[in-house]
Amino acid sequence: ACVFSDVQSAPPIEVFLLNRLCAESKDPNKVNLGVGAYRTDEGKPWVLPVVVAAELQMANDKTLNHEYLPVAGLPDFRTAALRVLFGSEHKVITENKVEGFQGLGGTGALRLAAEFLKKILNYDIVYVSSPTWGNHKGIFKAAGFSQIKEYRYWDADTRGLNCAGMCEDLMAAPPKSVVILHAVAHNPTGVDATKEEWAQILHVCRERELFVLFDIAYQGFATGNLDEDAWAPRYFADQDMDLFVAQSFSKNFGLYNERIGNLAVVSKDASKLPEIRSQMEITIRVMWSNPPNHGARIVATVLNNKAYYEDWKGQIRTMSDRIMKMRHELTDNLKKLGTPGNWDHIVKQIGMFSYTGLSAKQVEYMLSKNVFMLGSGRISIAGLTPKNVAYVAKCMDEAVR
Ligand code: PMP
Repeated sequence: ACVFSDVQSAPPIEVFLLNRLCAESKDPNKVNLGVGAYRTDEGKPWVLPVVVAAELQMANDKTLNHEYLPVAGLPDFRTAALRVLFGSEHKVITENKVEGFQGLGGTGALRLAAEFLKKILNYDIVYVSSPTWGNHKGIFKAAGFSQIKEYRYWDADTRGLNCAGMCEDLMAAPPKSVVILHAVAHNPTGVDATKEEWAQILHVCRERELFVLFDIAYQGFATGNLDEDAWAPRYFADQDMDLFVAQSFSKNFGLYNERIGNLAVVSKDASKLPEIRSQMEITIRVMWSNPPNHGARIVATVLNNKAYYEDWKGQIRTMSDRIMKMRHELTDNLKKLGTPGNWDHIVKQIGMFSYTGLSAKQVEYMLSKNVFMLGSGRISIAGLTPKNVAYVAKCMDEAVR
């Protein structure tokens, strides 16, 4: 018999299934609101002009080659990524209390964090928000965490954050737990803590001695401002906390398939960084040995060049502005149709996504109209365009009536 004869199909990965269904649909009105990837007003992927400029420069640079990168990644990339995250004047940078490790996208940075926490620091319990990005639980499970727990986050009644519930759940966490916090533009809800709420969350993390792992996949996408969007991890780092921050450059550079991310390790004892580095390198060595060059080189080239850096900030603003505009257009269309219910949350939520509040049955109706979205009711606002927003609103209107 074939050794594979007992292999059963795994459940489909929802976003990629939606991509396929949308690609196969012949409906001229079809809309893909599934995958979290930026689209232009024409519904097309956008290669950032500053990325094209960096790639042309790289192509003409005869000093570059395809030798292996260091295990921890491209040094120029790692330090530049930390400066974007914390700002170059932050004390963790000036006091050398932070080091970055290049990962395969934000996912790889998270996986590296999980491996280190489990194998080197013996953590076994992790808390994720309810709901959270579809891959957090799997990543920690794959690293061997035996307890994956949820803290309350989304409040279906207010369509906002349940901060009291969140703090209560974290306050009840057993000693030696890890907590994953979305730094900005929470996926899937688009709902973030206010600065006052972050202070409460920090207090609980301190009180319970939770190990905080920030996930920052949307820096710049929420407000259009890199500094504002990194407020929470900077604030935690201000308070002398040991921290991990998993950064992704997939969205803010549009480098999805280049798999470029960074794991920032903040240690309040700077003298421990060499030991941490050596253990990180061993952890990386058995997973991917050393990381790919192209995305790291692009990001480093842009961040280490003043003119490119300014261009990049402008291009991030182009993306975040268009997303905010589409939030308004969707809400305006729903108001025009007199769609039952209150839709103000779509404008209040930030980042790439909106948790619409549509029920599973209403989502089914949307799918039947070839508007592809997650079963949870999450839509990627970036998939909306001036041409399709009226159709999406009309389908939502029909779905809720
Ligand atoms: N964290 C969150 C919250 C995300 O939304 C994503 C991307 N969807 C990631 C991490 C991973 O990003 P990457 O594609 O860089 O692995």
